Amino acid sequence: MNITDIHGTVTLNNGVEMPYFGLGVFEANEGTETIDAVEYALECGYRHIDTAAMYMNEKSVGEGIRKSDIKREKIFVTTKVWNSHQGYQETIDAFHRSLDRLQLDYLDLYLIHWPVHAKYIDTYRALEELYDMKLIRAIGVSNFLEHQLENLISNTEIMPMVNQVEFHPYLTSASLLNYCNSKKIQFEAWSPILKGKVNEIPILIELGEKYKKTPVQIILRWDLQKGVVTIPKSVKKERIRSNSDIFDFQIAYEDILKIDALNRNERIGADPDNFDF
Ligand code: NDP
Repeated sequence: MNITDIHGTVTLNNGVEMPYFGLGVFEANEGTETIDAVEYALECGYRHIDTAAMYMNEKSVGEGIRKSDIKREKIFVTTKVWNSHQGYQETIDAFHRSLDRLQLDYLDLYLIHWPVHAKYIDTYRALEELYDMKLIRAIGVSNFLEHQLENLISNTEIMPMVNQVEFHPYLTSASLLNYCNSKKIQFEAWSPILKGKVNEIPILIELGEKYKKTPVQIILRWDLQKGVVTIPKSVKKERIRSNSDIFDFQIAYEDILKIDALNRNERIGADPDNFDF
C-alpha cells in the first residue's frame, strides 16, 4: 500500500480505487448525530463512509453526503446486507431498500455482513448480479474466515474484492490476512481502535510518546502500514479530526513488530464460526 494522505487509495482486484481510510458509523444514531459526523468527516478530508442496513442510519449517511460540498463520485460508500435479509431475492430487495434510504443511484461497495451458513452463496450470487448490472462498483464479504472464503470462491464466479473483519492489536489474524493478500482480497479492519481501549495499552502509550502521537493514531497508522484498510468510528468532531492525523509520520519496522506481538487472538465481537444472530 502506498500511503500518501487521507485521500490515498488501494486498488481493488477489479481496478476500483478504494480510499484506505474511512469513517465507520456503527452505533451512530440516525439523525443529526450521523448527519453531522459524515458531513464533518468529509470536510476533514475523509472520502470513505462505512455503514450497514443493520446500523439503521443509512438515511442520515446519505443526508450527510448531500449536505457536504463533495461530489458523490469522490466519495466511497459501503453498506452491507443484514443476516435476516440473506438469500438471492431477499438480498436484491434489501440492496434496493438500502439504496433508497441512502438516496444514491449506485454503491461503491456492498458486503455480506456475516457468513450465514446455507445462505451466503445465494446472497453472493445476488451481489454478482447487481455488480454485473453496474449498480455496485465492488462486492465483498465481512466476517469471513478462510474456510468460508474457500467455499465461496469455489461456488461463485467473481473473486470478492474485500473482506472486512475484526482486526486490532489483540486480534491480528496473521494467517487470514496472508490468505486474503494471496487472493488479492483487500483486508479491512473493523473495531480497529478497540472502541478506544488501545489508549490504555502500555506499549502503545510508549510508542505514542516516541512518535508524538496518541495510541489511537499509532494503531490507525499501523493498520495502513500493514496494508489494511481502516474505518475508525467517531461522532465527535475532535476525534474525527485527530483520528485522521496519521499522515505525517512512519512507524519503524521494529515497532510494527512490537505491535504485532500484542496479539492474543482475542475477539470483542462474535466468532464467525459460531454466532447466533
Ligand atoms: P472503533 O474501534 O472504531 O471504536 C469506536 C469507539 O471508539 C466509539 O465508541 C468512539 O466513540 C470511540 N473513539 C473514537 N475515536 C476515539 C479516540 N480518538 N479516542 C478514544 N475513543 C475514541 O469501533 P467500531 O466497532 O465502531 O468499528 C469501526 C467501524 O467498523 C464501525 O463503525 C463500522 O462501520 C465497522 N464495523 C463493522 C462490523 C462488521 O461486522 N462488519 C462490526 C463492527 C464495526 P465516539 O463516537 O463517542 O467518539
